[in-house]
Amino acid sequence: MPRIGDMVTDLVRIAGAGHVLVDEESRSAYSRDKSPFPGRLPDVVVRPADAAEVSAVVRLANARGLSLLPRGAGFSIAGFPPVEHAPTVFLDVRRLDRVVEIDEVNMTVTAQAGILTSALDAAVAERGFQVHTVAVPIRHTTLGGVLSGVFGGGIPLDSCAVGLTGQHVLAVKVVLPNGDLISTNAGGANRHRTSSTLFDGDGPLLTPMFIGDGGSFGVKVEATLSLTPAARFTHADAWLVPDLDSAWRAVRELSRLRELPFTWLSASLGWLPVSQESSWELDVVAAAGDKRVLDVQVEILERTLTSCGASKASAERRALSREFAVPGAAWTRQIVDLDRALLAFVFGNRDFCDGLRAVRGLLDQRFAERDLAALGLGLRTVWSPLTRHAVYTSISLTYDGSVPGAREETARLAREAYTLVSELGGYSEPHQGEVAGILARSWSPAYERLVAGLKATLDPNRILNPGLWEE
Ligand SMILES: Cc1cc2nc3c(=O)[nH]c(=O)nc-3n(C[C@H](O)[C@H](O)[C@H](O)COP(=O)(O)OP(=O)(O)OC[C@H]3O[C@@H](n4cnc5c(N)ncnc54)[C@H](O)[C@@H]3O)c2cc1C
Repeated sequence: MPRIGDMVTDLVRIAGAGHVLVDEESRSAYSRDKSPFPGRLPDVVVRPADAAEVSAVVRLANARGLSLLPRGAGFSIAGFPPVEHAPTVFLDVRRLDRVVEIDEVNMTVTAQAGILTSALDAAVAERGFQVHTVAVPIRHTTLGGVLSGVFGGGIPLDSCAVGLTGQHVLAVKVVLPNGDLISTNAGGANRHRTSSTLFDGDGPLLTPMFIGDGGSFGVKVEATLSLTPAARFTHADAWLVPDLDSAWRAVRELSRLRELPFTWLSASLGWLPVSQESSWELDVVAAAGDKRVLDVQVEILERTLTSCGASKASAERRALSREFAVPGAAWTRQIVDLDRALLAFVFGNRDFCDGLRAVRGLLDQRFAERDLAALGLGLRTVWSPLTRHAVYTSISLTYDGSVPGAREETARLAREAYTLVSELGGYSEPHQGEVAGILARSWSPAYERLVAGLKATLDPNRILNPGLWEE
């Protein structure tokens, strides 16, 4: 095993003394994420300034047998890979935080992977554009962390209409586990091309290989995403329906329309303090570049929802719906500043109702068996269509971190629920930490051999996120 002192000397040579953290207080700040899963104290943290320094750290890890865990903002919802290899170096990419180019002609943006998603969104908004990043934790997550740690590269604010963030990624620049820097489009897949405008196209689709890889195939240093003209006009409202079947019927009716009249549509029960406990609430957001288009969308929404038996919620609830239409303080209060496990998963339309009932059924059963409410645990469910084909569900498993055992019990329940989702054929949101291992249990032997073969080819010394897809 390499001596920590030698490793630190080498890392300082690469990144400079101020960017190699060895004191316990600094390392502790990296030891937890936003989940109840167990933390991990790194031996050293290194904060490279650019792709060349990332590459030098990766080469050093190969030479000295170090484990590297790429790290964005640490907002992961699944802890760390359960298999530990010492010494562990956390590679914090947040100094790579620049917008490289906003190309208004090609309508693309290229940014470094450590940029906060809110900074990226703000930079393109200034030029009248929108980029699909994330919804809720926009001020807390990095571009590289979302592209790596969430299935499909992330769930943007308007995922109901536009799908997953990865569908809008045109190219990634990645430091491979051997230290090579590759681009999957301009400058790489075609070295004569100067800008990436179409999704791959020069060979096999390699960009998606680095999306949702949990950071095990390479360290992302840059990505190019497509831009959309920003919506100038928006509408948000809250509606009530009597039960789950009515909420599902309304969502299906709206999703069947040729032109979707919404960018966001979600159903929840007792989710907000002012919610009516007995009714399901539908929150709807519509957005358009032209006021006349928005008016037509609102008219279609109101007609369709009314025909499905929905009625408008209370004035107070409708005002909150407008506040929640934009990620900000309301979302932070409601779900970011909470002790909770996030159980987030997707089922295809056909399996959604049975899948949701099965997962909720398991949780309700465990609550009763183990008297979890007495331990301070609670459940909040919200679901929304993910394009026309599938449904995203988020169950917040809240707990009181000051109650002994509550965090561990929540983590245990989250593992059990994610196992059930996977066994039912659902998609789990996190592709990181412990949940990646749970997902891999459902892989067929042939698929497992393929992924293991790719990993062995790219990373023969297993330096990058070792054990991520293992248990
Ligand atoms: C309250 C809350 C709400 C959320 N809501 C949403 C949402 O609306 N939409 C959504 O998409 N997600 C959401 N998430 C999930 C969150 O976006 C992901 O957990 C994301 O991975 C966190 O990004 P990060 O920068 O903090 O990454 P980290 O937590 O630092 O890392 C996550 C994973 O990515 C890897 N990684 C990080 N950076 C890189 C890199 N540059 N190269 C390679 N691998 C890397 C890490 O090794 C790790 O496996 C939410 C999370 C929370 C806590």
